[in-house]
Amino acid sequence: MRFISTRGNESVTGAQAIAQGIAKDGGLFVPETFPKVTSEELSAMLPMSYAERAATVLYKFLDDYDFEELKTACEQAYSQFEGDDPAPLVKIDSSLYMLELFHGPTCAFKDMALTLLPYLLRKGCDLSGIEEEVLILVATSGDTGKAALEGFKDAKGVKVMVFYPNDGVSKMQKLQMATQEGDNVNVVAVRSNFDDCQSAVKQFFTSDDVKEELKKRNVILSSANSINFGRLAPQIAYYFSAYLDLVSSDQIAMGDEVNFAVPTGNFGNILAAYYAKRMGLPVKKLVCASNKNNILTDFIKTGVYDKRREFYKTMSPSMDILISSNLERLLFELSGREPTRVKLRMDKLKEEGVYEIYEEEREKIQSLFAADFCGEDETVETIYEFFEEYAYPMDTHTACAMYAASGYMAVSKDETPMVVVSTASPYKFPQDVMYALTGNDIKDSFKAIKHLNLTTAMKVPKSLSKLRDKKVRFTAVADADKLYEKVLEFVDGK
Ligand SMILES: *Cc1c(COP(=O)(O)O)cnc(C)c1O
Repeated sequence: MRFISTRGNESVTGAQAIAQGIAKDGGLFVPETFPKVTSEELSAMLPMSYAERAATVLYKFLDDYDFEELKTACEQAYSQFEGDDPAPLVKIDSSLYMLELFHGPTCAFKDMALTLLPYLLRKGCDLSGIEEEVLILVATSGDTGKAALEGFKDAKGVKVMVFYPNDGVSKMQKLQMATQEGDNVNVVAVRSNFDDCQSAVKQFFTSDDVKEELKKRNVILSSANSINFGRLAPQIAYYFSAYLDLVSSDQIAMGDEVNFAVPTGNFGNILAAYYAKRMGLPVKKLVCASNKNNILTDFIKTGVYDKRREFYKTMSPSMDILISSNLERLLFELSGREPTRVKLRMDKLKEEGVYEIYEEEREKIQSLFAADFCGEDETVETIYEFFEEYAYPMDTHTACAMYAASGYMAVSKDETPMVVVSTASPYKFPQDVMYALTGNDIKDSFKAIKHLNLTTAMKVPKSLSKLRDKKVRFTAVADADKLYEKVLEFVDGK
């Protein structure tokens, strides 16, 4: 299978797409066609372990990799998760389910891909004949950074540098990154928001000067953000696995449709669900949930993407995004795969801060996606009410998806089974979840964890309780226009 750029004619192998991260023209790599999964193939996946299912889905795209090796890599990646199922499906009600994706090493769904990406990238470099050292630059709104650091720590031939908005992540997320171990990692807080971090990083990827300077040092850039297809591919797998779990537990019959509600920021997670549908998974509707930063809700409802608006910091920081990178991949599909049209819109977004899609494209998007957003008060209420009713504690991001899912079900009267994607452990945002459940405002994160455990009786993830005794290693703070200097300092070992 080959991969093409959303903005031009570049065509590469899967290995190259992953090693490179982003196309030379600034576009994102997308599969040339969507590989199909037949219902016979789906049935054959029923008895498989999660790792085997994941390898099967991945191999559909990455046929230049070795299947057995992929399977071993998946087994190794998902053995790092707590419990025996890396992506358990929890039944809440007769047609409501939670897909828990937070049992990995950093307690957010990013682990589903970032425990596997080191293998995909190393192999991708080998297969593409890349011998330089790889520098992975990560812009994070909180969770990707930690998951990338943890996934790549002490990996050979790779360095990881993470930029996060200094005031835009939770205390726990900050502590997770600041205490990161490993000799090949670096973390810098940026005096700005996530969008500026992401724009800076994207610019490095397309700058010839930056590439030239790094080449002198025998270094090439790659990305662990969801602009890298290596991040997306493992995410497609859990939609298949959730569906198969519904079939094997007799909740649905093979071929029945299901809906997914996804808390959305950079549009990576929900795009993976859309890809699964394109591959033949019986998905009816995708509910795109935003927080107070409701640019995607407006876009799906009106067809106008307008980032000229206020940016809010919320209690679901991993969704505090105004430029959702992966939407570009959906635009590519909506446009009938017209790279010139995609490029025009991306240029317009950059220059004017706004673009509008055609009516037929808007109709297409609305037939696939429903959209809603959840404000701060609604987030608190949803966590509280859901715990009251089902004794199920949710994190602040998942609550946005639950809110949007409930709204969609109430208004549409759609009775298709709904799977709400749970993207983080409540223990990752213990203060906010405790506040929602009890009204108590607890300043200390570990005290909040303890109280949350007493309130919910949910098990505390080991990786979070261990943080308390870890040494803070990274304290650097930089202005958004000084990141390049930081990159060079890191590469030069200063
Ligand atoms: C990253 C993240 C999201 C948003 O996912 P996207 O793929 O960026 O849309 C939602 N919730 C949590 C907890 C996250 O870490």
